[in-house]
Amino acid sequence: EAVLKAAEEQMQARERQWSVTNPDSEIYAINHSDGNMVEISLDTAKLIQFALDMSAQTDGALDTTIYPVLTAWGFTTGSYQVPDQDTIDKLLSAVDYRNIHLKDSSVTIADGVQIDLGAVAKGYIGDEVADLLREQGITSALINLGGNVQTIGTKPDGSLWRIGVRNPFADGNLGVLEVEDMAVVTSGGYERYFTDEAGNTYWHILDPKTGYPADGGLVSVTVAASEGKRCDALSTALFVMGPEQAADYWRSCGDFEMLLVLADGDIWLTDGLNNTFTLSEKDTNREVTVIRHETK
Ligand code: ADP
Ligand code: MG
Repeated sequence: EAVLKAAEEQMQARERQWSVTNPDSEIYAINHSDGNMVEISLDTAKLIQFALDMSAQTDGALDTTIYPVLTAWGFTTGSYQVPDQDTIDKLLSAVDYRNIHLKDSSVTIADGVQIDLGAVAKGYIGDEVADLLREQGITSALINLGGNVQTIGTKPDGSLWRIGVRNPFADGNLGVLEVEDMAVVTSGGYERYFTDEAGNTYWHILDPKTGYPADGGLVSVTVAASEGKRCDALSTALFVMGPEQAADYWRSCGDFEMLLVLADGDIWLTDGLNNTFTLSEKDTNREVTVIRHETK
């Protein structure tokens, strides 16, 4: 009970520190700095540095400065609308993670630039909570932060943890991943979206190049790796990239596994998940493609 309480307090402290909307948060202070340098805590500097590294590694598919565009679509408030092209163009001109200047524990952003760590913070916090539990001698745990699952060890009986992968097209699970000591994070277009009068669907993961919801052909991306923060950053970035580019990206680094659900309902998964993932009974007719490293 005491360990769980400490974990909960840690998560709440991070929420206060990193929320974009809480006027007392460090991110809020950065976003309202009018171009002035802001002193931040070491933890916040570490998280921002991680987000910047991942933005660079994914060639800007992940971009921590997308927030103003997200706001224009109403994803931050729930007052959804399709912004006109002029608005998008104007806002996009300030979207570039290279507009964030971080040095040690001070950060400067130009007026008009805004930071949002929504795509990476949950994974980072999951890692922290897992570390906290491990330090307290916990050898078996499952932490679920909503779309972000972090496991420690196996189940107490020694069997693998079973993590459901949600079906983006209907209720229930598409299948189950069996893992131990791993983080599993899903980004899905079905999580937050709206539909316009013409029946077009718009979701909350945006392509920083267009300012529009990413439509590279994916409806969900699940990433499994030892670190939750890497899974979280990648699930968002790979969603933006689309299946082909995501496969290339995996081949170039390969220190994670992924399961892609394509818009047409097909599934692509990396080699390492081939024996780890089991389709639900009603989904066994789906086409599953295994992504492998190119053989020389
Ligand atoms: P969730 O937080 O819904 O589990 P994600 O980890 O994929 O899902 O993060 C999506 C959130 O990240 C959005 O709500 C938004 O705040 C932000 N976001 C959307 N598109 C991008 C992007 N291309 N780069 C960085 N952050 C993004
Ligand atoms: Mg993410």
